[in-house]
Amino acid sequence: MTIKDYKFAGKKAIVRVDFNVPLDENGKITDDTRIRGALPTLKHILDEGGALIIMSHMGKPKGKVQAKFSLSQIKEAVAEALGRPVQFAEDCAKAQAQAAALKPGEVLLLENLRFYPEEEGKPVGIEKEDPAYESAKKEMKARQKEFAKTLASYADCYVMDAFGTAHRKHASTAVIADYFDADNKMLGFLMEKEVAAVDAILKDIKRPFVAIMGGSKVSSKIGIIENLLGKVDKLILCGGMTYTFAKAHGGEIGGSIVELDKLDVALGVEELAKKNGVELVLAPDAICADSFSNDANKKVFPSNAIPEGWEGLDAGPEAQKNFAKAIKGAKTILWNGPAGVFEFDNFCDGSRAIGNAIAEATAEGAFSLIGGGDSVACVNKFGLADKVSYISTGGGALLEAIEGKVLPGVAAIKGE
Ligand code: AMP
Repeated sequence: MTIKDYKFAGKKAIVRVDFNVPLDENGKITDDTRIRGALPTLKHILDEGGALIIMSHMGKPKGKVQAKFSLSQIKEAVAEALGRPVQFAEDCAKAQAQAAALKPGEVLLLENLRFYPEEEGKPVGIEKEDPAYESAKKEMKARQKEFAKTLASYADCYVMDAFGTAHRKHASTAVIADYFDADNKMLGFLMEKEVAAVDAILKDIKRPFVAIMGGSKVSSKIGIIENLLGKVDKLILCGGMTYTFAKAHGGEIGGSIVELDKLDVALGVEELAKKNGVELVLAPDAICADSFSNDANKKVFPSNAIPEGWEGLDAGPEAQKNFAKAIKGAKTILWNGPAGVFEFDNFCDGSRAIGNAIAEATAEGAFSLIGGGDSVACVNKFGLADKVSYISTGGGALLEAIEGKVLPGVAAIKGE
C-alpha cells in the first residue's frame, strides 16, 4: 500500500517517526529537522480524517525509564508543529485505553519506545560470552514480538516513516509490520523521499561523483569508505581521521585524535583507492589548537608535522582549497561527517569550505546529498540548507542504504 492511496478517514494510524532530536541541558530542542521531516506524513493522515498514534525513540536509555530521554519534553513542540493538542501516553506498552478513545483528528504521542528493552530486542545485563546468552536472546526475541503485537493492537494501519532507524530491526521499525496485512502498512512520505534520494545516488550516477567523509574516526566509517571506493571518482577524507592517515606514514601529529590500531586500515584505504583509480583527497595542513576548546590558541601546521602540545581540530587553508577544487565540477555529491570540530565556531572553517563548495556545485547542476546528524547540523549552521539538493534525516541508515543493503524498515513493508 502507499500512503497516497490509503483511505485514512475514520482509521487509527500508528506511525513510527524519528523524533530523536538533540536537546540542550534544559530539554529544549536545538535542531528540529527530524520533527519537520515527519510533518508531511502526520499532517496528511490528520487532513484525511485519521487519528494519529505517534511512536519514536530518543537517545539510548538502554531499556530503562530515564527522565532525560522522555519524549514528554518534546510534546509541546510536536503540538505546535501539528497545530493541535497532543495527548501523551506515559507508558508506551499500556496505551490501549488512550488509543481506543482517539477520535479522528486527535493525536497521541507514546513515551520513548526504548524505555523497554523489547524495542531493540537485545538481552540486557548479560554478556555475549555468557553460555546463557543464546537462550536469553531467544527469550528477548519472543518478548519483542509480544511488544510489537501490543503496539500494533492500538491501530488499524502502520506507517513507517523513521528513516533514521530504518536500518534497525526493532519492534517498532520492522517487527510490528508482521501484525498488519499488506493493505494496511506503508512507508511514509519521508521514507519514500529518502529512498528516492538514495536511488538518485546509486542508480544512473552522474559523474564525476565526489564523496566527502569526515567525522572523528576512520573505524566507524570504514565499511562505507571501502564501498564508496567502488563507486566514486574522488573521495575526500577529512576530520579526525586525517591524523590516523598522517600517523600511518610516520607523521608527527602532536595530541591530535588518532586510532593507533587502525594505521593498516588507513594504508589499505589508500591502496584500494589507487587500485580503483579513485582520487583520494586528504588534508595536507591542519588548523591546530593548544587545547581542546573554542578559545584555544590557533596555529596552522602540516598535518604530518604537528608539534607536541598542539592538536589538529580543523582542515587547514591549503586543505580547504584542495577540497573546494575537488568538489568543483562534481555532478553527484555525498557528504557525511564534518571536516573538524565544527561545534567550535573557531574551528568550523574547513566544514564551511566544504559546505560552500557543495552549494556552488549544486547551483551548477550537481545532485548533492547531505546525511548524518553532524553534516546536517553544519549545513544548517552555515545557512546552506536550501542550497543543497537533499538533506537526509538518516546517518547510519543512509550509509547502509548507499552500501546497497536493504533496510529492515523498508523490507518489512515491501516484503523484500
Ligand atoms: P562522527 O560521530 O564520527 O561522525 O564524528 C563527528 C564528530 O567528529 C564531531 O562532533 C566533530 O567535532 C568531531 N571531529 C571532527 N574533526 C575532529 C578532530 N580533528 N578532532 C576531534 N574531533 C573531531
